[in-house]
Amino acid sequence: MRLSRHFLPVMKESPADAQIVSHKLMLRAGLIRQTAAGIYSWLPLGHRVLRKIEQIVREEQDRAGAIEMLMPTIQSADLWRESGRYDAYGPEMLRIKDRHDREMLFGPTNEEMITAIFRDNTRSYRDLPRILYHIQWKFRDEVRPRFGVMRGREFLMKDAYSFDLDAEGARRSYAMMFIAYLRTFTRLGLNAIPMRADTGPIGGDLSHEFIVLADTGESEVFVEQAVLDRSSINDLTGWEFSDDLGEREMAFYREHYAATDEKRDLHREQELGDQVVQRRGIEVGHIFYFGAKYSAAMGMSVQGPDGSPVVPQMGSYGIGVSRLMGAIIEASHDDAGIIWPDAVAPYHVGLINMRADDARCAGAADDLYARLEAAGVETLYDDRDERGGAKFATMDLIGLPWQIVIGPKGLDKGVVEVKRRATGEKVELSIEDAIAKVA
Ligand code: ATP
Ligand code: MG
Ligand code: MG
Ligand code: MG
Repeated sequence: MRLSRHFLPVMKESPADAQIVSHKLMLRAGLIRQTAAGIYSWLPLGHRVLRKIEQIVREEQDRAGAIEMLMPTIQSADLWRESGRYDAYGPEMLRIKDRHDREMLFGPTNEEMITAIFRDNTRSYRDLPRILYHIQWKFRDEVRPRFGVMRGREFLMKDAYSFDLDAEGARRSYAMMFIAYLRTFTRLGLNAIPMRADTGPIGGDLSHEFIVLADTGESEVFVEQAVLDRSSINDLTGWEFSDDLGEREMAFYREHYAATDEKRDLHREQELGDQVVQRRGIEVGHIFYFGAKYSAAMGMSVQGPDGSPVVPQMGSYGIGVSRLMGAIIEASHDDAGIIWPDAVAPYHVGLINMRADDARCAGAADDLYARLEAAGVETLYDDRDERGGAKFATMDLIGLPWQIVIGPKGLDKGVVEVKRRATGEKVELSIEDAIAKVA
């Protein structure tokens, strides 16, 4: 993509209304614009990143055997009356009336809808187990939308729902999702720590929030040092799904201490003494086993192997896809701007022509751009007639993993400059070697 034809409105100064660095950088780098409190438009660059995050989330859900579908954003109030949650949900639910005065709502989550769909279209134990998911916009009328996409009112969530015949099966589904989550966050370049979370009346150990540590996070968490040491980006080689992989991972987080403030165990903290550290973090995912809560309330059952009815056991598994973009930036930036992990970068290479007014430079840059594109390297080509300094600042701000700079002095020597954004390391290479380096 040529920057001269792109829509990339960058800002030099930090907008006054943004408090945390990810929000500032998302505005400055032209990723998002607010259209109403907690509601954002995704500009082209931000949209590309969102799609990449979404795709990694999707691939790991698919790998875990979950099946993608898509449910609507608008739901009917009657559906929520079946579970009893319509009145219970409170002011976070955006309630809408259609022209026939029917009560509708913008979905904050989809337990009711998926339960109804599954209920109405399954009969037998053979239809289970299943995990279904979608990636869809949610709306929650948050009392304090803030920090940009971190706590939006409209936000993109991946939500999966599992249906099993018994608690043991549900536990297996849960363990699959547990691993899928670790894989997902690792691929996104994040260290997300599974922490014991509130299970409500069901009890047990099957609820985890996945927390990315960050001083700007809204959750207060208490973590044993051993957990911090272990989870610093898992190496995924050899991570094949198996029943015991999930159980083994879960066992580690049971044996070691990591809890959100609602699930603090002061007794355990006392035993562990100064091994426990207090931190802040961002909730990027939440997985939850809730048994027959919705299936029983909404009258779902299937015929069991012996002919008697079985009420499926369910779990739900959420990932904040749009929130993740904020979390990634909180975890990966410097004074000059964003440093995208390769996996989610909007483009892989930023190609800078230092002298757009120089025919030789322009020719060489055009040629290199064509070769990068032909090699399948996603390239943002700054072909604008601007000062070199401004171009460097923009490239650093938007944080593409690699920069290639073409200028007259280099061309005299037959080289271009290749810079790795994360380290700032620069090398002069021939065009051939530059392509090989970034490809
Ligand atoms: P929070 O504690 O931050 O309010 P939650 O516990 O209400 O989140 P869940 O119902 O567990 O959220 O939803 C699943 C995931 O959706 C969360 O883990 C989070 O990543 C994301 N999410 C929830 N609310 C928002 C929001 N207002 N803006 C962006 N992402 C959100
Ligand atoms: Mg909430
Ligand atoms: Mg929460
Ligand atoms: Mg939650």
